[in-house]
Amino acid sequence: MTYEDFTAQIDHFSTQYHQEIDPHTFFGFPLRPVLDIEQELLLPARRNIAYFSMEFGIAPSIYNSFRLSGPMDIHNQFFAHDVFSNYWLCDYLFKVRIDKMLDIPIYGGGLGVLAGDAMKSSADLGYPVVGIGILWNKGYFKQNFWYKHGQVPEELTWNPNAYPGLIPLKNIVTVETKEGPLALRLWKYYVYSYDKTKACPIILLDSNVGQNSEHFKRLTDQLYRSDDVWWKIFQRAILGIGGMKALDALNYRIDYFHLNEGHAAFALVEKYLRLNDKSKMEEERKKFAYTCHTPVAAGHDRFQVQDLRRVLKGDYVQAAEILGKEKSDSSQINLTYMCLSNCAKVNAVAQKHGEITRLQFPAFASKVDAITNGVHLHTWLSESFQQLFDRYPHVFADWRRDPEQLANIVQLKGDESFRRDIFEAHQVNKRHMLSVINHWKLKEDVLTIGWARRIAGYKRPALIFHDVKEILKLASTLGPLQIIMSGKAHPNDNIGSAHIDEILDRIDQLNEHKSIIKVLILENYDTYFGKLLTNSVDVWLNNPLPPFEASGTSGMKAILNGVVQLSTLDGWVMEAEKDDIGWIFGYRHTGAEIGSEKDLKLEEDSSALYNTLKDVIGLYYATYAKGTLNPQSAWIDKMIHCVQRAAFFNTNRMMKQYHEKMWQG
Ligand SMILES: *Cc1c(COP(=O)(O)O)cnc(C)c1O
Repeated sequence: MTYEDFTAQIDHFSTQYHQEIDPHTFFGFPLRPVLDIEQELLLPARRNIAYFSMEFGIAPSIYNSFRLSGPMDIHNQFFAHDVFSNYWLCDYLFKVRIDKMLDIPIYGGGLGVLAGDAMKSSADLGYPVVGIGILWNKGYFKQNFWYKHGQVPEELTWNPNAYPGLIPLKNIVTVETKEGPLALRLWKYYVYSYDKTKACPIILLDSNVGQNSEHFKRLTDQLYRSDDVWWKIFQRAILGIGGMKALDALNYRIDYFHLNEGHAAFALVEKYLRLNDKSKMEEERKKFAYTCHTPVAAGHDRFQVQDLRRVLKGDYVQAAEILGKEKSDSSQINLTYMCLSNCAKVNAVAQKHGEITRLQFPAFASKVDAITNGVHLHTWLSESFQQLFDRYPHVFADWRRDPEQLANIVQLKGDESFRRDIFEAHQVNKRHMLSVINHWKLKEDVLTIGWARRIAGYKRPALIFHDVKEILKLASTLGPLQIIMSGKAHPNDNIGSAHIDEILDRIDQLNEHKSIIKVLILENYDTYFGKLLTNSVDVWLNNPLPPFEASGTSGMKAILNGVVQLSTLDGWVMEAEKDDIGWIFGYRHTGAEIGSEKDLKLEEDSSALYNTLKDVIGLYYATYAKGTLNPQSAWIDKMIHCVQRAAFFNTNRMMKQYHEKMWQG
């Protein structure tokens, strides 16, 4: 595609974007990869993929940040974070201030971060993949903690019209609905490869356009808005139906459609409706791939047909009934079922999750493959570890291009200077993190435990505080502790919010004991904090109730940076159980019954956690105390094993498997 053709698509190009885009540059990056991928997507020659996802966590605050020629809009910068800790005075006096851009706020948690990482690895590998998502005008939400009130959600505002790298297109597509035509503006964002030689576009759909009614304009304001099924159905129709129309409007030639979670299922409905001869659907199914992400029942969307009728026109409802009814006499459609039965290729996100998915949906068992999730190496690897690998080129060779090289780290296990180097690289990360929260006066030589992820019941965020007396006893007898937490609960998730109340309450109970245990919970967990915490704490705590964590990815970010795991046996961790990457504790799931996600087993698993913590604390202080390191410690073996296993848990490997297994036939 030529520069002129490209810029002709951009709305307000001559008045606004000409300063950021010239024949050679795109917001400070080379323009060539953008023109190349645009050209490629117009041609039928290769395997072109459309990857649909409700959310994309692209994380430009920590990786491949675009530049603006002028100053950054204040709304696109980061706000200060409050902290809730057992060191009240500090919480009252200080905030965590970080001078950085707001991550493009179109994600809620791990699902979105995975989608962002998948796009980045596609660019690294040179796969012609176009993402399809939604421009959430108000993001997910902003989180405030109020003591005795828990989490108080607030609306987030940002400015898409001045966000670096985000461009509005002139194209508007229309979805016919029961309430009249719904117009959707298309935006583009480009994800570049780590070496900036390749790029992949993401198309973002936006209902906030002039010709729409006021309530239509708000359809794309908040991710996972769920006050009413009406919103939910509209948002899914925008992604699936609007997404298919967007691909046509841009004349992209797509060979495979990949639905990341069932939210995008209406793409199948759109495809079906377009067929004159419905018997051709069998052929079309071969072009659809589906990634199923959750074993939790609430994660599967089901809608009453009568509710669909409030949103969609008759032919759409009819097609949805044909494709998505579990039983012909049922009054509801199930989007998970629709994807399972109409996509030729289906994958679960870890081996264990594959097993569980086959149990949950026996009719599709033979179709369900498992491709374990990963994380994007270049986004999540800290600078100090990059430098560490570069200091041993004979071992890590071309690790930037080929993450599998990290497995060679075992060759250095007997090298004492390397053992010192890896520990020091970790301490660099730890000191950096402690400097961000310096007012709270955490110490570099105190064992620091991290827990940060979406707050959901099955993830058991308050497990470590189940018995405050017990954790205090450990800290007073074996050595001091620092615990850093972060996470958002969905605003309508009462159980999640109750967990936050509980954590705040427990932290409060520790207020008298801050000389031996300090606990901080940081507001507004995002990818910036995700990177900061996963690469800097000494131990990453992961305590979901098995088997409800489909995969989990934050622990993968941690092991990449040599951070050892303290985990229950679930999700990806099952595939590293034998590799000595830390400690495994608690309930083990076996057998053909999935069990109940409400039966949290807090009593048994918290005592298993406290028991295991004795070993963790013991080994930590035998490894590193008062600034002196024992380089022979088994702790350092574990750190090395972590990096060794991280060679597998990355999205380069995952995308190669998608390419081999999902985009075929
Ligand atoms: C990695 C990440 C997650 C996913 O964490 P899990 O361990 O899979 O729950 C969620 N949110 C953010 C901001 C992340 O960076």
